[in-house]
Amino acid sequence: MNFDIPTAMQLAATMTLVVGAGLAFAASGYPPSLQRTINLWVRGLLLQPAAFVMYALRDHIPDLLSIVAANTLLMAAFAHQMHALRKFNACPDRRGMLAMLVVTTLVGTTLMTWVWPTLGGRTVLVSLAIFALGLLGVIGIYSSRGTRSRPEHLLAVLLGIGMAIMLVRIVSAPTSSALSVVTYSPLQGVVFTYASLMPVLATVAFFLMCGDRLNADLARLAMLDPLTGVYNRRTLDDLGRRAVADARRAQRPLALLAIDIDHFKQINDDFGHEAGDLALKALVERLQLELRAGDLISRVGGEEFVVVLPGVDETGARSLAERIRSRIGESTFAIDGAHVPLRVSIGAGAISPAADDFDNLRQATDRALYAAKRGGRNRVVSVSALDAT
Ligand code: GH3
Ligand code: MG
Ligand code: MG
Repeated sequence: MNFDIPTAMQLAATMTLVVGAGLAFAASGYPPSLQRTINLWVRGLLLQPAAFVMYALRDHIPDLLSIVAANTLLMAAFAHQMHALRKFNACPDRRGMLAMLVVTTLVGTTLMTWVWPTLGGRTVLVSLAIFALGLLGVIGIYSSRGTRSRPEHLLAVLLGIGMAIMLVRIVSAPTSSALSVVTYSPLQGVVFTYASLMPVLATVAFFLMCGDRLNADLARLAMLDPLTGVYNRRTLDDLGRRAVADARRAQRPLALLAIDIDHFKQINDDFGHEAGDLALKALVERLQLELRAGDLISRVGGEEFVVVLPGVDETGARSLAERIRSRIGESTFAIDGAHVPLRVSIGAGAISPAADDFDNLRQATDRALYAAKRGGRNRVVSVSALDAT
């Protein structure tokens, strides 16, 4: 096989330069949290062309550049990218460790070029450092909570292949110092093929990861009410229907509360619209304290909330609603120095033969809520009490 390492390095330099510059120019539309991670990755990519050019010129430029500077720069580039990867998954900051690997490469290659010249020693050192960087990246991918996306697995595999190649390289490091690193051998062929393809492949995987993250964030945002962070009406319709169907299949009870703040318009008029917004957020926080993990809260209108309570029957829903009503009424909502009084009216209902799907149950609890309003507000009315009258 006719594999020319300097040519491969020139190609790697060109690819990393073109891809890095292209992304630096084009990838500006991501949200700030992702943008910082992307900038780190792209900076790492843009540090690589100079390193690859110096590798390519191994026999034509001084050792200081082709050995010490090239390896240190490459290590700094990979360190940026592994830092980006860890930041992407909010892993513990290992900048100190990453910097230490770069400095070790600088000092080690310097000593092993002029003080104790040994190509084998340098090969082992650089391979070990790359292995350690890869390991920090893979740990960064798999130590985060939640599920990993396919591009994350892809990137982990790419790093794993690199780490395996580095291990083989360590085991079979040359013992003679007469060999040059750019002399072809099958292993060198594998190493430099990987080195020239990896930056671009890993960048593709990294940007796919960012795209997946962005889609997941947008999908999550589309489910939520922007002011209070609880589910919005559309999500309630989806999740509520599913919860009612699940409860009926399992023959378990399920209850709904329709909660509406009393005279909220007056609160806006007295304290201002912003104080009204803060009151809505504070009310949701208070509500969350009273609910269990599987309960769903949604904001279905300006100051109107619906809570889905799986596993709860109407009696349970009524007593929970009573507790919510009295706790909220007794709470002091101190907003911008003012004491904002909040009272709520609640309609409570549960699945029954008359309200056997989500929409019927919603309508029934809404009727109970309006009855609570008509009855003087700051009270709970249950669907069965309403039907009994
Ligand atoms: P009731 O006791 O009958 O429920 O009276 P109310 O004033 O609470 O009800 P009404 O429906 O008359 O008014 C609701 C008010 O809620 C009107 C609107 O100004 C206010 N509102 C709706 N959305 C928001 C919001 O996002 N922020 C704030 N601050 N106010 C809101
Ligand atoms: Mg109201
Ligand atoms: Mg209302």
